[in-house]
Amino acid sequence: MENMMKAAVLHGKKDLRMESRPRPACDAGEVLLKIVSNGLCGSDIHFFEHGKLGPFIVDKPYIPGHEAVGEIVEIGSKAKPGLKVGDRVVIEPGIPCNTCAFCREGRYNLCEDVVFLSAPPVDGTFADYISISRDAVHFLPQEIPSEIGALVEPASVAAHALNRIGVKPGNTVTILGAGPIGLITLLMAKAYGISEITIVDRFANRLSKAKELGASHTIDNSDNSAVEQILAITHGKGTKYVIDTTGSSLMCALAPSIVMRGGSIAIVGWPEKSSFPYPIESIIEKEINIVGINRYCNVFPQIISMLKVGQLDLSSIISHRFKFSEICEVLAFASTNRLNTYKIVIDHE
Ligand SMILES: [Zn+2]
Ligand SMILES: [Zn+2]
Repeated sequence: MENMMKAAVLHGKKDLRMESRPRPACDAGEVLLKIVSNGLCGSDIHFFEHGKLGPFIVDKPYIPGHEAVGEIVEIGSKAKPGLKVGDRVVIEPGIPCNTCAFCREGRYNLCEDVVFLSAPPVDGTFADYISISRDAVHFLPQEIPSEIGALVEPASVAAHALNRIGVKPGNTVTILGAGPIGLITLLMAKAYGISEITIVDRFANRLSKAKELGASHTIDNSDNSAVEQILAITHGKGTKYVIDTTGSSLMCALAPSIVMRGGSIAIVGWPEKSSFPYPIESIIEKEINIVGINRYCNVFPQIISMLKVGQLDLSSIISHRFKFSEICEVLAFASTNRLNTYKIVIDHE
């Protein structure tokens, strides 16, 4: 096997370059993967546009990408059994310490020492090869195409949100935001047996996409009338659940007015303001449960099996397909076409 590989390296704002890098070695507890398919995440686009995201700053060149499927080409001598060369696997990109109290109680997404692929300076998956802990990969059954496997990571965020608020079939949900995560949450809510799904956005094309994907009601909030419209649909009651994927503090603060008495709110998007007015009285009066969603834990196997048996279909969320050799143009395209792109997948074959 060749010793060098191609990797897409972000040097700073709008400066992504295809470069040659040494192919990583496979350590004892690791598997070496040939990357087959990548999904493009909003965070990759954000790093490309701004050179930073929250506390993470691109201050030295690094490789973005963390929604990936790879094929095993080598297995380390001490890697746990159960996989063989040639198997396709989905990468779970948050690698926890596995020894702290949070890890041991199973909430490993809260591990303070988690290493997350593609959060600078940690290299991600926009490369021909990656070598990664055996514990960080999940077998992908042959029924699931690689490009769908690459969507397991973003779908995990949606599933974790629904799991955290204990979603039960037959109830109603409002999803704030019809971007990629909002739309994936819609598909996931359908798979969970939610009876009525209302989705809110300001952009008509996103709302018509949501309709196409099975939303019961689409609400155009360009005139800021979302709360009134939802209360009108629900006879003044609101919906049992509200999932906020917008990353907008204004939208986030609307959730308590939209949720039913005794209902639950999951906050998935990071609001652009770290603090803002929030209607505490409604929370108390309606006994609302509010949970924060920080990535996910323990959901990859669940999503892979939902995909395998056909309970979940993510294919309709893919809007564009590109080749890995085009990745520099893909990032530029995605950052100028955010409203017309849902999920972009990148094929490495
Ligand atoms: Zn992502
Ligand atoms: Zn830990």
